[in-house]
Amino acid sequence: MTAAKVILDGNQVAMDIKEKLSGRVMSLLEQGIVPCLATILVGDDPSSATYVRMKGNACKRLGIRSIRVELPENTSTDELIAAIQELNADPNVHGILLQHPVPHQIDERAAFEAISIEKDVDGVTTLGFAQNAFGFADFPSCTPEAIVAILDYYHIPIEGKHAVVIGRSPILGKPVSLMLLNKDATVTTCHSKTTNLEDIVRLGDIVVAAVGRPKFVKGDWIKPGAVVLDAGYNEGNIGDVDYADCLEKASAITPVPAGVGPVTIATLLKHTVEAAEKLADFRENS
Ligand code: NAP
Repeated sequence: MTAAKVILDGNQVAMDIKEKLSGRVMSLLEQGIVPCLATILVGDDPSSATYVRMKGNACKRLGIRSIRVELPENTSTDELIAAIQELNADPNVHGILLQHPVPHQIDERAAFEAISIEKDVDGVTTLGFAQNAFGFADFPSCTPEAIVAILDYYHIPIEGKHAVVIGRSPILGKPVSLMLLNKDATVTTCHSKTTNLEDIVRLGDIVVAAVGRPKFVKGDWIKPGAVVLDAGYNEGNIGDVDYADCLEKASAITPVPAGVGPVTIATLLKHTVEAAEKLADFRENS
């Protein structure tokens, strides 16, 4: 008899996170603090505009204010940094999210670094990344935290497991590798220069796909019983994992949509509320 498969329901995990937040938002509002997330969108990439709109709508539903800063495609690095500094200086803004990717003329790293650490709710600054690497970040990157939150919600053990992460971007592959390592997994991080990728993926008890290529991970790469987390989000609502194929082999798997995506947004809201709470604590104690 084969064991039942678990479809890791991101909507359910996201709901759980948001339910726990609503009382905290209320309490902030009673103190006269309206938690506020500022999103910055540079250019007119339709997918990025959709992500920013989804984040704004999610804020609204929870009573979090959202500010949308839209800058033209030809914005320079200096102009973007100036917009970020304005948000840094605004005491009514608690979190800042610069939507990735930005147009090619912009030095994205310099722009990320301009976000003040107190408002770096997506863990994009060097300091935020380093704190996450050491395991004491206030705000780890949202998608990596979402992946760990899904594993935790479903009581899937991480300690001692071999986690194979495909992708090493600073916002996803690398931080999720570090988070899994900090939770005592043995981690292999793969990338475009990895040789024998399929054989390495076959060793994974936990496989995280963060590649940015639709249906990249195939079912015959998956060790029977492995847990598969698909962080990918490609045009047409398609993940980085060939879902139907991998479902056959996995013991648990996230779908796309309704997997990692909604939990990422819920995590962003959580970080924004936490940033506002920190400010409230600071005010109370000073
Ligand atoms: P990225 O910056 O483009 O990084 C992709 C990574 O995949 C790179 O490290 C790259 O290796 C690696 N890669 C590319 N081709 C490969 C290959 N053939 N074999 C092995 N590795 C390969 O992308 P990202 O920002 O990390 O995003 C990854 C995916 O997650 C995308 O689908 C994106 O849409 C999605 N995403 C989802 C959420 C969410 O909320 N669900 C949030 C953010 C991103 P190199 O480093 O060698 O180039």
